[in-house]
Amino acid sequence: SSLSSSPLLAGLNPEQLVAVTLPAGHALILAGAGSGKTRVLTTRIAWLLQHGHATPGGILAVTFTNKAAKEMLTRLSAMLPVNVRGMWIGTFHGLCNRLLRAHHKLAGLPQTFQILDTQDQLSAVKRLCKQFNVDEERFPPKQLAYFIAGCKEEGLRPRDVQAHDADTRKKVELYQLYEEQCQREGVVDFGELMLRSFELLRDNDPVRMHYQRRFAHILVDEFQDTNKLQYAWLKQLAGDVVDGRLVTQGSVIAVGDDDQSIYAFRGARVGNMQDFVREFAVERQIKLEQNYRSYSNILDSANALIAHNSRRLGKNLRTTQGPGEPVRVYEASSDIAEAQWLVDEIKQLVQGGAMARSEIAVLYRSNAQSRVIESTLFNAGVPYRVYGGLRFFERAEIKHALAYLRLLENPHDDTSFMRVVNFPARGIGARTLEVLQDAAHASGCSLHDAVSAVPGKAGANLGAFVAMVDVLREQTQGQNLRTIIGQVLEASGLLEHYRNEKEGADRLENLDELISAAESFVTQEGFGRDAVALPIDETGAPLTQGPASQGLDPNQPLLQQPMVDVDTGETLSPLAAFLTHAALEAGDNQAQAGQDAVQLMTVHASKGLEFDCVFIGGLEEGLFPHENAMSDQGGLEEERRLMYVAITRARKRLYLSHAQTRLLHGQTRYNVKSRFLDELPEEALKWLTPKQQGFGTFAPNKGAVGAYGSGAGGRFGFKSESFASPPVPPQKQTPSHGLRAGLAVFHTKFGEGKVLAIEGSGDDARAQVHFPRHGTKWLALSVAKLTVVE
Ligand code: ATP
Ligand code: MG
Repeated sequence: SSLSSSPLLAGLNPEQLVAVTLPAGHALILAGAGSGKTRVLTTRIAWLLQHGHATPGGILAVTFTNKAAKEMLTRLSAMLPVNVRGMWIGTFHGLCNRLLRAHHKLAGLPQTFQILDTQDQLSAVKRLCKQFNVDEERFPPKQLAYFIAGCKEEGLRPRDVQAHDADTRKKVELYQLYEEQCQREGVVDFGELMLRSFELLRDNDPVRMHYQRRFAHILVDEFQDTNKLQYAWLKQLAGDVVDGRLVTQGSVIAVGDDDQSIYAFRGARVGNMQDFVREFAVERQIKLEQNYRSYSNILDSANALIAHNSRRLGKNLRTTQGPGEPVRVYEASSDIAEAQWLVDEIKQLVQGGAMARSEIAVLYRSNAQSRVIESTLFNAGVPYRVYGGLRFFERAEIKHALAYLRLLENPHDDTSFMRVVNFPARGIGARTLEVLQDAAHASGCSLHDAVSAVPGKAGANLGAFVAMVDVLREQTQGQNLRTIIGQVLEASGLLEHYRNEKEGADRLENLDELISAAESFVTQEGFGRDAVALPIDETGAPLTQGPASQGLDPNQPLLQQPMVDVDTGETLSPLAAFLTHAALEAGDNQAQAGQDAVQLMTVHASKGLEFDCVFIGGLEEGLFPHENAMSDQGGLEEERRLMYVAITRARKRLYLSHAQTRLLHGQTRYNVKSRFLDELPEEALKWLTPKQQGFGTFAPNKGAVGAYGSGAGGRFGFKSESFASPPVPPQKQTPSHGLRAGLAVFHTKFGEGKVLAIEGSGDDARAQVHFPRHGTKWLALSVAKLTVVE
C-alpha cells in the first residue's frame, strides 16, 4: 500500500478510523472476514508510534501465525522509519519463548532449553511409557500426550488435576513423570511454553509488574481462537485482580470474529470474548461491516452459509464491489477426476501470466486429500507448495540433523540422544539402550551421563558416540552456523549414510536446504551481520536507547535484543537461536521468496490469508462436514464456520468441487455432496456440471474405483526449490565495543574469559566468550558489561 507517514489514515472507513485512533482503554473489535481487522491492528500500532502515544518497546501484539507476525512487521517498517526488530510482535508461543529465555532462571529452565514439537513430544511420551512399563493398549501414548497437552491448556499441573478413577490417576502419575523427564532433559513442549511463562508472571511480582508497566498497548488478533490459558496469560500482562476486580494499567484491544472460531477442538473458547468484555469492563465495542476482500457473489455465499448457524453474536458484512464472477461448482466422478479438473483449470488461469500461481490456493478439509492433488500437479509440472502436512523441519533427515545440533547445545537432551545414538547405525542395539536407560533412570541422570555405566563392547560403542559429539562441540566453537552444520553433517556420518542410500538424493538435497535455511535465518535475524539501521524518530534523529539496564527498569526497552538473560546479558548462540526458530517455525513456509507456486493447505491453515482465486475440494458429506463432527450440533456448527473461513479467503474467484467416489485411508467411498452446497444462494452459483438433485442421491461411478495407483512421488513437490539465500552485504563500520577474538575480558559474574568470536554490530553485537570456570557463553554486548583485561 502507499501509506506514507502522514496519510497513515487515508482510505480507512469511519469505523476503522475510530478503531485505529481509539484513546487508551480496552476495546473489542468484532467483525467479519475481510473487514480489515488485521489491517486496523497494524495501522493502530503505526499510529500509536507516529503520534508518540507509544514507543516500540511499549507494544505487545499477538498474531495467530509467525507468518502473520512477519507480515505485520514488514508493513510497519514500510509505514514508519522505526526499527521493528526487537518489537514484541509474535505468536503466543513466540512471545512466551522470549519471556522464558529472558527470565529462564526464575522459570527454572536452562537458557538453552530446547522446544519439543508435537512429534518430539509424542516420542518423549513413548520413551517414558517404555521406561515405566506402561500398558500401551490401555494407555496409548498418543492419548497420553493429548491428555498432558489438554491439562496444560487448562493451566493444570499434575497436582491440580482431579482424578476420580484409577485410569485418570495413572494418567496424572505419568503426566508427573513426563514433567520430571522434560525438566531433567532441559526441554519444553508447546503447552509448557505457555504454562511456564504464565506461572512466571503469576508468581513473580516484580517481573509481572515490569511488563504490565511496560506494555501500555496490548493488541490481539484472532481473539476468538484463544484458549483459557492464553486468556489468563493476557490478563497477567494487563493487570492484577484487586478485590475481585481486574485493575489494569495499559489498554488491551482484542480483535475477533466469532464466525471464524475453528479451534474449539484445541481448547479455544469463544466465551473469552464475553469474559473479556465483562472482566475488562470494555466500553468500546466496534463493528466493522464493510468487506474489502471479496466480490459480492463470494460474500453472499459466505453470509448465506453462516446464517445456518444458531449461536452467533450477530454481524453483517457488505461490500461495495460488484457481484463479480459466479461461484463455480463442479462435480467429478472421482477424486482423481477432481484433481485433474482442478489442474486443468489452474493451467488456464495462469496461462500467459494472467494470474500468479501464488494467488491461487487449493484448500482441503483433511490433510489426506492433498496426496492426489499433489501428484496430479506434480505430473502436470505445475509448481506448488504445501503448508502443513509433513513440513520441512519435520522431515526425518532434517530432524536427525537437528538432533545432532541439539546435542551440541545440550548433551542431556535425551530425546535427541535417542534419535541419533544409532543413526547412522553404530552397532548400538535396543538391548544396550535399555541397559543405558535403566542406568540413567537408576541414578537420575541423563543418558549422556550414564554411558560409563554400560559395560563391555556396547559401552565402548556408546562411549565412542558420546566422544564424537563432545569433540564436535569443541571443534565448532567460534565457528559460523554454516560451518557448524556442515561439520556436523559430515562428522555424524549422515551425509555418508544418505549418499549410500538408494533414495537418498532427495534427502541430501534437503540437508543442503537446511544449510540454506540457516543462512537465511542468519541474514534475517541479524545473527552474524549488521541488522536493520538503528531506530530513528519521526524527524530522522536516532532514538537513543541509553545504556542497557541490568535490572527491571520499566522505562527501558529491556529486550531490545530478544532473548537476553536480564541479569547477565547472556544470550543464545546463533546455533541455539536457529534451533529455536526451527522448532517454533516448523509450521511456517520457509521458501516464501522462491518460485511462484500454487498454495496448498488445509482450511485451518488458511485463516487470516487471502488469495485472488480459491479452490475448495472434497465438499462431501463425511469429509466436509467431517464425519467426526456431524453427530452433534456444536460440531456441525464448527464445520460450518470452517467452511465460512474457507469461502472468505477468496477475492475474485471461487471454485467448489466434490467427487462421487474418493479413495481415502485405503478405502473407496461413495459420496453424497456436502449439505453446505445446498446452503449457498443459487443466484451466486454457476454449476459447471449438472446439479445433483438434492441432498441424498448419488450415482457411484464404476470406472473410477481403484483407478488410483501408487502415489506418484509428488509428496515433496517443493523440495527442488532451493532457498534463496540473499547475498550477505559486507560488514560496515568498525565495532564500537572494541572487542575482537583472542582478547582477554572480564565479566562481573563469570570472571575472566577469552573472546572466541564476535557477531553483529551496534545494539546487536554479541560475543562468544570462554570462561574457564563457567564454560563458553554468548553475551549481548549491549547488556553484558565486559571489560578488556590488559
Ligand atoms: P480475516 O477475518 O480473514 O482475518 P480481516 O478482517 O483481518 O480478515 P484484513 O486481512 O485486515 O481483514 O483485510 C482484508 C483485505 O481488505 C486486505 O487486503 C486489506 O488490505 C483490505 N482492506 C482493509 N481495509 C481497507 C480499506 N479501508 N480500504 C481498502 N482496502 C482495505
Ligand atoms: Mg485477519
